[in-house]
Amino acid sequence: MSNVQKYGVFGDPIHHSLSPVMHNAAFSNLGIPAVYEAFLVKPGDLEHAVLKAKDDGFRGLNITIPHKESVLKFDFISPDPFSKMVGAANTLRFLPTGIEAFNTDAMGALLALESENCSTDGKNILVIGAGGASRSISFLFGQRQNPLKIINRTAEKAEKLAAEISGKTGNNVSAGGFSNLLDDVEWADIIIQTTELGMGKYESVSVFDQTESVDSDENLRNNLLKKYLTPNTVVFDIVYNPKETKFLKEARTAGAKTINGTMMLVYQGALAFELWTGQKPDVSVMKDAVLKALDAKQNEK
Ligand code: NAP
Repeated sequence: MSNVQKYGVFGDPIHHSLSPVMHNAAFSNLGIPAVYEAFLVKPGDLEHAVLKAKDDGFRGLNITIPHKESVLKFDFISPDPFSKMVGAANTLRFLPTGIEAFNTDAMGALLALESENCSTDGKNILVIGAGGASRSISFLFGQRQNPLKIINRTAEKAEKLAAEISGKTGNNVSAGGFSNLLDDVEWADIIIQTTELGMGKYESVSVFDQTESVDSDENLRNNLLKKYLTPNTVVFDIVYNPKETKFLKEARTAGAKTINGTMMLVYQGALAFELWTGQKPDVSVMKDAVLKALDAKQNEK
């Protein structure tokens, strides 16, 4: 029997995933004989694919869009307390005793902030977006009792998420749409942008384009944003491709401290790696692999 350890990521679509290059770099750096591959798994095939991975001797999997919530529906998977509370997992660990599920996305975001010397304790957190990524991150800061507001294009989704987090954590989480965006921005010490705006087909769009209270003229907009964003405001956009979204560029130009999504990707991966192997990977090796792959994608354009 081969002693090469098997790992992978299941998602749909999956061709864009940077996880294989990132994890394979970390395995190779530590001299661990392992291979990590991306697998296209359609929604109806998830249960079969996970059970097959178990039979094939896989040690670990990452689970990505659209499976992070549905993977917890299988009774043969045991979620850890955080992924159970959130209702979504991005990491599976295969043990002789069974399959465990974890959610390393939120802690990845927290470590990304901390790696930029951004302390989060007691800080006012504004999360923009109410999808899957927001859900994990918002639950984490809700659980840590940060003053927390969630805003989303579809305000009802943000309200539903805030009510769920309030109920489960005892934190009084508020929510809304984008109509008071500037006041919300002014209130926040840390702004975490989790929508798809700024990437793919939305590359030329920023959240500030989605509210009538912000001018479309670049100079007027910059002057306005300077009044609401301070050099102490941290603006974290979890999108990593492009490296600087339109929103992040606007925040930087207005004087805020900005962080992109690269290190969240790296840390959520590093935490999964540690769960699987019991070893801490070198995050700088993982980061270099991700940046190299992103540059290659950029050159393909
Ligand atoms: P998701 O569950 O599909 O949620 C999408 C979010 O984007 C929702 O809040 C949605 O608002 C909003 N949105 C979509 N189109 C919009 C538009 N035209 N205008 C305003 N809002 C819009 O996706 P997700 O899993 O949370 O992922 C979101 C982003 O995070 C993606 O860009 C992903 O690449 C990134 N991400 C990064 C990392 C990392 O490690 N750095 C990890 C996970 C995700 P509505 O509810 O109103 O539709």
